[in-house]
Amino acid sequence: MTNEQRYEQLAALDKKHFLHPTTAIAQQQASGPEFIFTKGEGVRLYDLKGRSALDGLASLWNVNIGHGREEIAQVAYEQMKTLGYCSSFASFSNEPAIKLAAKLAEIAPGNLTATFFTSGGSESNDTAYKLARHYWILKGQPARKKIISRSRSYHGVAMGATSATGLKPFRDFTNSLAPDFCYVDHFSTDALREKILEEGPENVAAFIAEPVQGAGGVHIPPATYFKEVRRLCDEFGILFITDEVITAFGRTGTYFGIDHYDVVPDMMCFAKGITSGYAQLGGVMISETIHNDLMELSKGTLLHGYTYSGHPMACAVALKNLEIIEREGLINNARNMGDVLLSGFKDIQKKRSIVGDVRALGLIGAVELVKNKATNERFEEPIAPKVIAEAHKRGLIMRSVVFDQQDTLVFAPPLIINEQEIQELITLLHDSIEAVEHAITS
Ligand code: PLP
Repeated sequence: MTNEQRYEQLAALDKKHFLHPTTAIAQQQASGPEFIFTKGEGVRLYDLKGRSALDGLASLWNVNIGHGREEIAQVAYEQMKTLGYCSSFASFSNEPAIKLAAKLAEIAPGNLTATFFTSGGSESNDTAYKLARHYWILKGQPARKKIISRSRSYHGVAMGATSATGLKPFRDFTNSLAPDFCYVDHFSTDALREKILEEGPENVAAFIAEPVQGAGGVHIPPATYFKEVRRLCDEFGILFITDEVITAFGRTGTYFGIDHYDVVPDMMCFAKGITSGYAQLGGVMISETIHNDLMELSKGTLLHGYTYSGHPMACAVALKNLEIIEREGLINNARNMGDVLLSGFKDIQKKRSIVGDVRALGLIGAVELVKNKATNERFEEPIAPKVIAEAHKRGLIMRSVVFDQQDTLVFAPPLIINEQEIQELITLLHDSIEAVEHAITS
């Protein structure tokens, strides 16, 4: 069977049996999957039709150490062979999970010293909301249950995570959400103060924010934003949770996104880059103070846990992944290559009439598309999906954000990317934008 025939056969099965996340359903039904990937190496993915693509989004903002790492495969194999799974409920534990929790305590900001493990970002966020509310029950303030989040935020698709997500289309997907969630403007600390006062500080459990908003369009807060958030949370006794699912483990050029702002949260959610996508793992780190309170005040059982909390293989993979990030200096590389990426975006901005604001912090960045640069006027219909289609033809993967009147291309390449590969990304991006600009203006 030729690869073309294999592709046709698999595409037919895909259409019939595989319900994809965030599918453009009409397109999926008409044409099936555009790429059926068979291999990944470094910053590139390869598909069944023999095409290669530069992975400008580290797949889903997560493949920090790049694709095809033998060392990771080896560690997963050894761990599975020795102890593929065991429970970490109650008094059961395992060495990789213990070592990973200790390693996280070493690298996390401030006094975040204990970790509750999950299988991904949505579970981590739901866990954080439940831990925060449970904490307030233990502290004798059970009315504190409101969770405040931000416009344009994305916290995942579990029921709590969906309810906290500021991007309305995700909430509108379902007709019943979890109660006690509310939202404020993403950069306004005045709005946060007003919201706290409106809800009554005695009713607020926590405020959650991504250090850099990812899926909502890569929004980088002003330098003083999180200092003021921390101050407000302290003033009203509210827990401050950061959602570092995208920003942790080097993505922004520091170990954690919040490190840029010199602020320590009370809880920190992570996932994605902890294993660079090689295994399903997430978690919530909590401060030593909260941990001690939970241990001292709790009279019963911590009735929260997933079958795969502290999975030995996933934790072994995470330890090796962190070792690689440190050994290869990938956090510094993210910072340096981030500068190159941003200057490439700026070059494109100069050359192309439909490029508005561009931004990046380390290796997470965005390029906005506009009808009129001077006024920032948008196209009636977003054109970012057209640029994505052109990029796919040329072998570049990235993502568009069209929620909330945005028309934006977002990027988060693997942290191993080098200068030559960034230049390639910039050239492919420029040519894709140019093709759409010509099609629109001719
Ligand atoms: N939080 C943030 C900031 C995310 O970007 C994501 C996923 O993109 C999630 C949470 C949800 O993570 P997961 O898809 O692993 O459940």
